[in-house]
Amino acid sequence: MSATFDAIVIGAGQAGPALVGRLAAAGMTVAMVERHLFGGTCVNTGCTPTKTLVASAEVAYQARRAAEYGVRIDGGISVDMSAVKTRKDKIVATSRDGIETWLGNLKRCTVFKGHARFESAQEVRVGDDLLRAKQIFLNVGGRAVLPDLPGVGRVPTLNNTSILELDILPKHLVVVGGSYVGLEFAQVYRRFGSTVTVIEKGPRLVSREDEDVSTAIEAIFAAEGITVRTSAECIHFDKRDDQIVAGVECTTGDPEVLGSHVLLAVGRRPNTDDLGLDRAGVAVDDRGYIKVDDKLQTNVPGIWALGDCNGRGAFTHTAYNDFEIIAGNLLNGETRRVTDRILCYGLFVDPPLGRVGMTEKEARASGRKIRVGKRPMTRVNRAVEKGESQGFMKVVVDADTREILGAAILGVGGDEAVHGILDTMAAKAPFTTLQHAVHIHPTVSELIPTILGELVP
Ligand SMILES: Cc1cc2nc3c(=O)[nH]c(=O)nc-3n(C[C@H](O)[C@H](O)[C@H](O)COP(=O)(O)OP(=O)(O)OC[C@H]3O[C@@H](n4cnc5c(N)ncnc54)[C@H](O)[C@@H]3O)c2cc1C
Repeated sequence: MSATFDAIVIGAGQAGPALVGRLAAAGMTVAMVERHLFGGTCVNTGCTPTKTLVASAEVAYQARRAAEYGVRIDGGISVDMSAVKTRKDKIVATSRDGIETWLGNLKRCTVFKGHARFESAQEVRVGDDLLRAKQIFLNVGGRAVLPDLPGVGRVPTLNNTSILELDILPKHLVVVGGSYVGLEFAQVYRRFGSTVTVIEKGPRLVSREDEDVSTAIEAIFAAEGITVRTSAECIHFDKRDDQIVAGVECTTGDPEVLGSHVLLAVGRRPNTDDLGLDRAGVAVDDRGYIKVDDKLQTNVPGIWALGDCNGRGAFTHTAYNDFEIIAGNLLNGETRRVTDRILCYGLFVDPPLGRVGMTEKEARASGRKIRVGKRPMTRVNRAVEKGESQGFMKVVVDADTREILGAAILGVGGDEAVHGILDTMAAKAPFTTLQHAVHIHPTVSELIPTILGELVP
């Protein structure tokens, strides 16, 4: 069939469904196209399933530490991987089905299941259907990169999607990539009971963070028995009997790691290579990300790109904010821009890292006169009381303008506590506003005003 709508939204990820809801509520007819799983990466193979695994792993970890808290568990502690997966699948399915059902029942919205490709700047083909609209919104997301490492095709490997289908415990999980995705899986599987080795090409883990963050995460991992191999110059793979050999050639240590499973977590790429963008004339950059302006408009009038596929954010909250920017500008008469948002994200190892704004290194490199407040979690009462005093909290401020430039809280509750700092930055208030606030005792957040009173160059 061929049909004309007011708008077409391609991809039911983190921005698309919300946008469909707003457009339909504004009286527009909308075609929503999804080729695979409603909810996209976050719901099906990203945030939701990984955080359910992190939760299961934390319970296993704390159960093993029970005696430290004076709690006796009679009998051993074991992890039922099949039950862990069932719990994860149930939470994911509830979320995915909720989105699909909601879209299916939405007035003025027609759902098309299939792969969408442009035929022209105002035409999209989905199987036998040709859809037309003057406004087209792309929310196609991304997928894991399969790196071109020697031997990669000769051994079975996992990515963030396939590892989530495991219901057995890998004997030895080798995680290639010491960044956000790899580190979460590494700690989760160690806590479930696997031997885990993380192989990282660079000289330290999460190299985008400050060095003190990388060092503290390495210490947390070492304490849990995770082996970290950095400066792995020449990663390659082979089979040996029933094992997988990962050649690493690090500067120190064994040049080979023998594992039962390999997870490749070395980055993501946008789903823009099979979208027919050339037929619509939509420009991409050299990595395939759709080029957009500050209001997420592509180079073709009437076509916008939201979420991971525009390269302007790599998180669920940035994808959702893209929806808010477009809805605000098109439907509310607002002027909202991508550059108004403050960088923030979490790394959900345990204890988690909450991050906002610049790193200390970036702030120093910017040439500003900066002041830094820092305190180890061993000097945060609540962390000590909880028996979880690994990590530290750090805030960076501009000595001249008094604005907060950035913060890192690696510690229990760090992913939540960092929001007080984020909100102060969003309010464009000076750091003294937060310093003079009275926070609840005993919390991790209560130490933020304190460290703002202890700033040093
Ligand atoms: C393991 C992992 C853990 C993560 N954890 C977090 C986290 O804790 N917090 C966080 O903020 N972010 C996290 N992320 C990142 C987060 O998942 C993404 O940033 C977010 O999902 C991006 O949303 P999106 O809407 O841009 O795209 P996606 O969620 O990827 O959705 C895109 C959708 O478009 C569909 N699609 C693609 N091409 C077509 C086509 N041609 N036709 C029709 N449909 C199409 C896809 O099937 C998909 O459903 C994680 C990612 C991974 C991989």
